Amino acid sequence: MTDVSLLLKNTQATTLAPPAIEECDIRIDDGIIVDRARHLRPKQDEEVVDLQSRIVMPGFVCSHTHLYSALSRGMPAPTSTPRNFVEILRKVWWKLDEALDEEAIYYSALVGAIESIKFGTTTLIDHHASPNFISSSLDLIKHALCQIGMRGILCYETTDRGGKKRRDLGLKENERFVTENTSCQQFRGTIGAHAQFTLDDDSLVWLGELAAMYDCGVHIHVAEDKADVVNARKNHRQDIVERLGQFGILRKKSLIVHGVHLSKRHLATIEKSGAWMVHNPRSNMNNAVGHAPLTWYGEHAALGTDGFPADMFEESKFGYFRNAESDSPVGFSRIPKMLHNGQRLASEFFGRPFGTLQKGSPADLVVLGYCPPTPLTSRNLLGHFTFGMNSSMVDHVIVNGKRIVWNKQLIGIDENDVMQKAAKVAKKLWGRMHGR
Ligand SMILES: [Zn+2]
Repeated sequence: MTDVSLLLKNTQATTLAPPAIEECDIRIDDGIIVDRARHLRPKQDEEVVDLQSRIVMPGFVCSHTHLYSALSRGMPAPTSTPRNFVEILRKVWWKLDEALDEEAIYYSALVGAIESIKFGTTTLIDHHASPNFISSSLDLIKHALCQIGMRGILCYETTDRGGKKRRDLGLKENERFVTENTSCQQFRGTIGAHAQFTLDDDSLVWLGELAAMYDCGVHIHVAEDKADVVNARKNHRQDIVERLGQFGILRKKSLIVHGVHLSKRHLATIEKSGAWMVHNPRSNMNNAVGHAPLTWYGEHAALGTDGFPADMFEESKFGYFRNAESDSPVGFSRIPKMLHNGQRLASEFFGRPFGTLQKGSPADLVVLGYCPPTPLTSRNLLGHFTFGMNSSMVDHVIVNGKRIVWNKQLIGIDENDVMQKAAKVAKKLWGRMHGR
């Protein structure tokens, strides 16, 4: 999937954590950054692109999303308005995932991937559910991401809400995908789980055992709403984090998503285990579940979009403003650092140094046409990132050394054609949701 050697001249090589911006040229070969210095001389047969002082950043990672919800935009509202978080699941998302078929899974992923890559997001960590099409569903998503040229860390949402047969198919789908992608350059698998409130003890045993067996972590929603915490106490007579810990869910590479209703002690336990917290500010606002206690999050905290388009500029802005109006605001650099942590997380899965622009890093790059109206330095970079830069400035995107988006256009994909087909698939999907 790599292009020939490519020399990017006159870049502003930029990273968010630690904040740094430096004028240099960047040479890419065989999918990795092989050189970085001022005034690199072009080699014979090398393609040279003058970026005219554009910003070059490592490609963004969305650390939690649901591509299957990409065709939900504009869908009819439920017949009765959900009154709380669990009703939102029952009346909206569990109706949608039940209605997904092979075609809808594929087009959801394709549409989501196209939008993501144009925002500069090069890796998606997805959490998939399609109870009526479980086996091989992750391959449909993989196929869609491959068509675009993105990287993915995928899983299937294991749950007991559809009975043991579906639960077993979910577990099997996770295990299959993990084992088939252990050495893939573009994909990795993890063990997916919905949330402890839809999982019996024996299911949690399986999830913990599979994660231990394949050293791949569990990707699970935790304490998104208070109902999850109350459920653990009421139905299992246990503290929510103790319950997860007991079954080996808290471990390196595990993704603990949301944590809105976790305590300082809970978050210290999770941090100590090596697992990652994933914060999704837009989703928390949309579901009115509360403010995530970011002050208590540790070093292992990343940023996701939870099904909203994977525009990490936008998610970062919402994250900043959402937190700024909370009772305990965190420092200005916290959200950009969480965004950078997504790249650290991807590095753990792939065993390669994402999130840097140093020699030896994978050439997953975003090129931004940002003309700063005020001085731009390493010291004030995060101010420019939060208040100035946005995804409409993404001009080029490179993944593994290959040009995927160039001059804002996807290469080799007829985007309009995909969107028109997707709209037809969405119409059928909405019809199935409403029994038509
Ligand atoms: Zn989610």
